[in-house]
Amino acid sequence: MPRIYSIEKTRNIGIIAHIDAGKTTTTERILYYTGMSHKIGEVHEGTTVTDWMPQERERGITITAAAVTCFWTQSYKKQATTKEERIKGEYKINIIDTPGHVDFTAEVERSLRVLDGAIVIFDGVQGVEAQSETVWHQADKYKVPRLCFINKLDRLGANFEKSLQSIHQRLTKNAVPVTIPIGIEEAFKGVIDLIRMKAVYFEGDKGEILKVEEIPNELKEYAEKYRNMMLEKLAESDEIFMEKYFKGEFNEDEIREAIRRACINYTFIPVYAGSALKNKGVQLILDGVIDFLPSPVDLPPVRGWHPDTGAEIYRKSDDNEPFCALAFKLAVDPFVGSLTYIRVYSGVLKRGDTILNTRTGETFRAGRIVRMHANHREEIEELFAGDIGALVGVKELKTGDTICDPKHPIRLEAIQFAEPVIWMKIEPKTKQDQEKMGIYLKALSDEDPTFKIKVDQETGDTLIGGMGELHLEIMVDRLKREFKVETNVGVPQVAYHETITKTVEAEGKYIRQSGGRGQYGHVVIRVEPLERGKGFEFVNAIKGGVIPDNFIPAVEKGIKEAMEKGVIAGYPVRDVRVTLFDGSFHEVDSSDLAFKIAAEIAFKDAIKKGNPIFLEPIMKLEVIVPSEFLGDVIGDLSSRRAKIELVEDQGEMKKINAKVPLAEMFGYVTVLRSLTQGRGFSYMEFSHYQEVPQYLFDVIINNRQSLKHK
Ligand code: GDP
Repeated sequence: MPRIYSIEKTRNIGIIAHIDAGKTTTTERILYYTGMSHKIGEVHEGTTVTDWMPQERERGITITAAAVTCFWTQSYKKQATTKEERIKGEYKINIIDTPGHVDFTAEVERSLRVLDGAIVIFDGVQGVEAQSETVWHQADKYKVPRLCFINKLDRLGANFEKSLQSIHQRLTKNAVPVTIPIGIEEAFKGVIDLIRMKAVYFEGDKGEILKVEEIPNELKEYAEKYRNMMLEKLAESDEIFMEKYFKGEFNEDEIREAIRRACINYTFIPVYAGSALKNKGVQLILDGVIDFLPSPVDLPPVRGWHPDTGAEIYRKSDDNEPFCALAFKLAVDPFVGSLTYIRVYSGVLKRGDTILNTRTGETFRAGRIVRMHANHREEIEELFAGDIGALVGVKELKTGDTICDPKHPIRLEAIQFAEPVIWMKIEPKTKQDQEKMGIYLKALSDEDPTFKIKVDQETGDTLIGGMGELHLEIMVDRLKREFKVETNVGVPQVAYHETITKTVEAEGKYIRQSGGRGQYGHVVIRVEPLERGKGFEFVNAIKGGVIPDNFIPAVEKGIKEAMEKGVIAGYPVRDVRVTLFDGSFHEVDSSDLAFKIAAEIAFKDAIKKGNPIFLEPIMKLEVIVPSEFLGDVIGDLSSRRAKIELVEDQGEMKKINAKVPLAEMFGYVTVLRSLTQGRGFSYMEFSHYQEVPQYLFDVIINNRQSLKHK
């Protein structure tokens, strides 16, 4: 079957926002206007179509990124008023849903990786919030062109100008309105389209009928001001347009083409005004998705490596190239079972094709392929370059895996995931569930690479690790709801690291020469502190073969194992460079095992001698509280070793930004609630690792000891 939608007419976009900015509501409206959803679902009714999982509905947050496909033709070209017309849109849009909670930034990153463009939603009362900032920088990292949507302009306290200013101050000066509000708060009526210089009103039950009129006289000056701002910025951003602008000769299409070029170059970020809840402004954003955000061919070829030779390979978004795709999401669908969402970068995948999983080196057959729509699944025969779909019932894949044509192997850049900052003991309520729990924990971990499982070597307990308290809470909840495994969990434990503060040398010998075959391993190493976040480096500086090359990997392995086990209190060692520079061997008695043990001995000694310290995860915290509670909340934060970075007004509320050790923050949500009579709220996410103050050094060691003996 040939392609129906050309690659140029495909958009892969994400909708990203701070929690509560209106992502779910906006997605709903988009799905409604594109004809895919019969009924507008309201978040508070718990009927929204992208939120599959029950606890998401309860919490009102979207945890799992699901991809849905819909169709659209620009509203200024054709107005579709019936459902039949709507689904015949000229362009195909795949919407990759991104999670809205800060504990799940890894999910946001992973979705950003496969997006070509994004809509970033802001609350028109709050402007830029903590997570909008984080997500914005993540989108910068993955070079995702984007549109901004200032939502909730109908709300009391909404301020378009101020929200725009906060974007300019905190995110980018390149954000420029292309639509502006007519009226505000209760009087918010519609928007002015600055490209067409028309007033647009949204009528009908769900705002589905666009009424395009002349701009009212009293708003002409206001519209001119913003239009000029848009044109000037565009002239600055795009040379082709600059010439036309100075000659004063350009039409609507030329403005759109210029915005498209500049938007893809990140020099111009179109800003839209609206209210998703009140059905105003959303269709124009869809027009913008088509007009301004890139199709897969507008972006540079994807980079990968040959799995055997390591040679760099580039693949174009083209059906004629060999097939390669990235598995970006594993999910369980209540009707068809396990789904693996993939983004095809090049070539075509047909049902029944044999494909290679580059990570495992194994091939498997692609069975059923589906495309997810808001309210149904469509079975498809093939998936083309630039497209997104899901494989049904595939067991072999993990999130982040590359799949490809076995004749043309390639490994795409892996998605980087942070290590857990918190661990917790978990056990099934009934012994019979032990095995089941193991299987489902593994499934959850395959799905979410920041969720980890390990067995405590000393106690034999199963531990689960993740990016925060809520993250683990949700996983435990999923075990119960989705897999019917009830568990008991321990108190959350901070994932400390150990490191050293001075460079030291150490020697390790493992020599046994009494009777039978002996053992002989001898190494001398230097261990140096590295900058925070550098992890581990191993340098082989052996000269003259004092240790033969074939034993070097055993030395490195011994060091890595000792690192993971920890030395001072059993926490993994990080941020060190280990240089192996001397040692000796024995012709007969030397073995990998002897060198491995010698390396462990040397490493442990080095850490003990190197003025060891602990590192702890520091979280970025944002707290919003009514002014009258500010003093109490700050006082409480100070007792938690918080560093307050900013306190500012946010409408009627006060906003506090701080950095605070995770160890001090367990149960904070409850404390904040009681401090503020339930009116304060907070967001927290991992920031970085930092040295633990000296006075806590022994406390950590003692706590660890007592844990072991529990
Ligand atoms: P998400 O957390 O970003 O997905 O945000 P939701 O779409 O769930 O919206 C959060 C809350 O804001 C819900 O109660 C919505 O009804 C409300 N909301 C969303 N958009 C608007 C809007 O345009 N105006 C107003 N007044 N409320 C809105």
